[in-house]
Amino acid sequence: MTPPIVSADIAVVGAGPAGLAAAVAAAESGATVVLVDAGAQPGGQFWRHRPETVVPVPDGQGHHGWKSYLDLRARFDAARHQGLITYLPGLQVWMAQQNQPAQGDDAGFTLRTTPTVAEAASDRSAAGARTVVARRLVLCTGGYDRQLPVPGWDLPGVMAAGGIQAFIKANGILPGKRFVIAGTGPFLLPVAANIAEAGGKVLAVLESSSPTTWLPHLRAAAGVPEKALEGAEYAAVFARHRIPYRTRSIVTEVLGSGSLGADHASGVRTAKVDADGSVRPGTERVYEDVDVVGFGWGFTPQMELPLSFGVETRLDTDGSLVGVVDERQQSSVPGLYLAGEVTGVGGATLAVLEGLAAGTAAAGGSALPQKTAASEKTTARHRRFAEAMHRAHPVPPAWQDWLTPETTVCRCEEVTAGEITEARESLGARDARSLKSFTRAGMGWCQGRVCGFASACLGAGPGASPTAESLSSAAKRPLAAPVGIGELAALDADYEDPTNSLLKGDRA
Ligand SMILES: Cc1cc2nc3c(=O)[nH]c(=O)nc-3n(C[C@H](O)[C@H](O)[C@H](O)COP(=O)(O)OP(=O)(O)OC[C@H]3O[C@@H](n4cnc5c(N)ncnc54)[C@H](O)[C@@H]3O)c2cc1C
Repeated sequence: MTPPIVSADIAVVGAGPAGLAAAVAAAESGATVVLVDAGAQPGGQFWRHRPETVVPVPDGQGHHGWKSYLDLRARFDAARHQGLITYLPGLQVWMAQQNQPAQGDDAGFTLRTTPTVAEAASDRSAAGARTVVARRLVLCTGGYDRQLPVPGWDLPGVMAAGGIQAFIKANGILPGKRFVIAGTGPFLLPVAANIAEAGGKVLAVLESSSPTTWLPHLRAAAGVPEKALEGAEYAAVFARHRIPYRTRSIVTEVLGSGSLGADHASGVRTAKVDADGSVRPGTERVYEDVDVVGFGWGFTPQMELPLSFGVETRLDTDGSLVGVVDERQQSSVPGLYLAGEVTGVGGATLAVLEGLAAGTAAAGGSALPQKTAASEKTTARHRRFAEAMHRAHPVPPAWQDWLTPETTVCRCEEVTAGEITEARESLGARDARSLKSFTRAGMGWCQGRVCGFASACLGAGPGASPTAESLSSAAKRPLAAPVGIGELAALDADYEDPTNSLLKGDRA
């Protein structure tokens, strides 16, 4: 059956800080908006909270910027009440396309959606697949944890640092009791603090960088004083719970145990490293009785939908592939706006500012002049802070030396570092796409979301960073989300031009 069509002036994908702000700004400028989000309730990653069916009035404990959320949420609810925003939670956009220009310059966009696995399993069966048609599109699809492989990282008990954070925020409970958190960046701090405040034991936070890397960036850091206050809060939690924070330290191996061999994480081997990530001999240490190891090496923007339109991209300071936008968040594709992590990982405040700008611009309006000037300054301060953060917390260039030839890199297809190196050396596979063809790395269930960055680095060679082309080839996915065969089959004659059905009155 062809999914019902929902139409509006503007479609927004993602209800995180950026998407929520974009939807509100567009609606307050008088446009009608359809907001599609894979989450079951607004908030995205940063403001993820317990199900409102269980906790109807969340108190914001453990959240930062909760007042901003409540403000946006109140405006969002008001706009929904007025019929300006149609909210479609629990739906993933699996394909997005531009409509035929024959319909006019402003022919717009079509989004194909499907219920998430969680939504399909829930009793909120009202949310079946929908096709969304809109004149303008704002993509605010956020990002996910960037991962680097290390021996043993494929054992059960190893999680992404953001995964632990999301687990606690969504469920109010911990995924284990004794934790080691490792990687780089300020994000490791709230993860460890939330674990400790929720009753878990954090044996150590291992940060590959050093606080001295901030010294050249003190001006940028001082531009966002609220981050220093946040840091002080975490320092107090670390002191209260006696959490060791070890700089220039990494996990070199996740140790496993089990009655039939290593079937879950039970410890970590660690080492001190130099600034480039080279392990310092004789600094090894072992932590035992660990049941969860959390890794966080920054975030990877969720780029499949922007890439499906062929938007112009660039490499950001942290090595991520991001969309290029102008000051109104307009991408290189007319009518397509990007906001939040997809234009560069910079935190929730920046995401909100970008979302507000994108929503206003997509609606064809412009904010009051003085408001625009103020928010432009705030946006610039947050961008400078984000750049400083990326420079102070780089992925260490020597990380490839931590791998053994047997280390699994692509967990879905069980491709090892040795196989990838062999493909690079013997077959000249130097980018993620060629590596995928020769080794199957990135060809499995997650389609390279987990191993894409690491594979691209390994293809580039020791100490080298991947090119934008290589990352782009790893992030291009014809289907942006898993979709049922029935929904593929339902792509009928009006696939090329779904507005035909719209004109025929086939509305939801
Ligand atoms: C797991 C995780 C936990 C994090 N926790 C913290 C934290 O505690 N503190 C902190 O400072 N920063 C945290 N971050 C970083 C933080 O998420 C960002 O700074 C901020 O949320 C960015 O806002 P955004 O609106 O760009 O994206 P997000 O908040 O990520 O929102 C994106 C939304 O888009 C939806 N989406 C994506 N693709 C599709 C699709 N195809 N169809 C439909 N919907 C889609 C997602 O489900 C999500 O709801 C976390 C990041 C991650 C990945």
